[in-house]
Amino acid sequence: MSGPVFLLATRSAGKLRELREIFAEFGVRVTDVSSLCIPESPAEEQLERYETFEENALAKARYFFDISGGLPTFGDDSGMCVDVLDGEPGVYSKRWSGRADLDPDALDVANNAKLVARMAAAGVSSGKKFTDSARYVCVAAFKDASAEAIRRGEIEGRVLENPRGKGGFGYDPYFEAPDLGGTFAESNIENTARNSHRSRAFRALLTALRAQGRI
Ligand code: IMP
Repeated sequence: MSGPVFLLATRSAGKLRELREIFAEFGVRVTDVSSLCIPESPAEEQLERYETFEENALAKARYFFDISGGLPTFGDDSGMCVDVLDGEPGVYSKRWSGRADLDPDALDVANNAKLVARMAAAGVSSGKKFTDSARYVCVAAFKDASAEAIRRGEIEGRVLENPRGKGGFGYDPYFEAPDLGGTFAESNIENTARNSHRSRAFRALLTALRAQGRI
């Protein structure tokens, strides 16, 4: 692959696995903040302080564009929205458990424990399916020296009472989506990179940027 290098503004191993698949399909070369040895700073925690996925995604793209010295940058913000929980955890998906002291895997466990407890408290348990109405949402954002752009992607599904599958990250074992053919934790990386909320958002964004000659 040749051409300019674009920066993926995330430290999430789960997101990077998926994004590398998608960008490779578009023939776009990428690096990420850890590969560039950009040190983690407290300022990064503040990037997700807004109340919309759009503002948070743009904040990440702008921050890492600046700190990388102007590499064209892609950021994203994502989460799960559950209707019976009035859209929670939404933009708070990562921090929902309130545990700032945990490593990524332990944080996923704590968030999922809260999900199961909140669903049970909402009284929607019916056999294996907690609810028919939830979605994963992702907003992908782009920033270079002359432009910014964003696109949103969603995938509908339901929250399960009992987890299924070993792959993925975050809420994946508890979220089943018909378009994926099972839970995200049961899906392989190729299937996820074709159908996920992140795939939908980034494919729309990359298609628009290609049409504008920016990638
Ligand atoms: P952020 O986009 O880095 O703010 O993190 C979003 C959080 O939402 C993750 O830490 C997960 O808890 C959840 N999330 C977002 N997308 C996914 C996904 O594709 N699978 C599982 N969990 C996700």
